[in-house]
Amino acid sequence: MSGRAGMATVSFGAGPTMLPRIVLDQVRADLLDFAGTGLSVLEIPQSHPAVVAVYEQVESDVREMLGVTDEYHVLFLHAGASTHFAMVPLNLLRGRSVSDYVHTGLWSRKAIEQARAYTKVRIVGDAATTGFARVPHLGGLAPGTDSAYLHYTYCDSVRGLEFPAEPCAGETPLVCDATASLFARPVAIERHALVYASAQKNLGATGMTLVIVHRSVLGSPSASVPLALDYTRQAECRSRFTTPPIFAWYLAGRVLAWMRSLGGLGVLADQVLERSKHLYAALDRSDFYHSPVEDGSRSRTSIPFTTSDPALTGTFIDESEAAGMVGLTGHSSVGGLRAGLFTATPDSAVLGLVAFMTDFERRYG
Ligand SMILES: *Cc1c(COP(=O)(O)O)cnc(C)c1O
Repeated sequence: MSGRAGMATVSFGAGPTMLPRIVLDQVRADLLDFAGTGLSVLEIPQSHPAVVAVYEQVESDVREMLGVTDEYHVLFLHAGASTHFAMVPLNLLRGRSVSDYVHTGLWSRKAIEQARAYTKVRIVGDAATTGFARVPHLGGLAPGTDSAYLHYTYCDSVRGLEFPAEPCAGETPLVCDATASLFARPVAIERHALVYASAQKNLGATGMTLVIVHRSVLGSPSASVPLALDYTRQAECRSRFTTPPIFAWYLAGRVLAWMRSLGGLGVLADQVLERSKHLYAALDRSDFYHSPVEDGSRSRTSIPFTTSDPALTGTFIDESEAAGMVGLTGHSSVGGLRAGLFTATPDSAVLGLVAFMTDFERRYG
């Protein structure tokens, strides 16, 4: 990556995240002439055969990479995951008045707050009781028999809490905000009624959410749901109720092709896990740095940490930026530091971060 003054700049930001250099080079070419059409990918009409081919290819790549069967629709919808905090209850309540939620951080709290406008929310697991040190025990997350669905956040990226596996919801539809996890770890789609993920963490550009929804939870479009927010309507028109988020959809295709070229999800997930282990090992062997999350609940992609002296946080951020590493500021609601290690983060970025941290500790610890 060429960066400021010729230095390599890497981003540990929480989204948008880094993209592979090879993908950026392809995008640069496609911005001027996409697929030999003589048009920019930003100019191409939404029904042009070259872009329709992209829609089809991306859906088939998602299905293949994540193991999504024909029992599910795969949708590519405008707006981010936060829109689905409302769309989920709007679409899935289907006459029921209660739904179950697991609270593991800021994103799940936002989902809960929005759901309360439409449904009685029952909290079946709450990481706040441990000060967000660990996720609730999977076996304790039993949904009520009257609940419309059970919603959880696979990785709640602000606090860096990640479930080690999927909860078991029995007959109750299981719904997952997998924004920080999809394409970065194995996710058992078949255990879910609905999985959604904003694209800007592991799949490219902001402005689009990938939704994988089981056919059985969709009915007929509801009179009270705006059509653009109706999963059934969007499934009927194959995510093209309105002009679709063409650029983000196209970019997801480029990212997926890059993922395939590296060997697919198994290889990528192993790389993500190894990178996170390298950083956690550095945090754990030091008395200067601290991870607030217990082993077994630690995120592979979003890793908050602190130094022993909060007054050094600003110095750490300034010096890391001067060394070409941006985005290490912790979320404003928790402070401290945070490293986003998403699917396209290069190994060299993590090695460089740990080397910087070691040197910083030597000088200030
Ligand atoms: C980043 C993130 C979001 C935010 O998504 P938007 O696209 O900004 O709405 C939601 N949920 C999780 C788990 C995230 O990590």
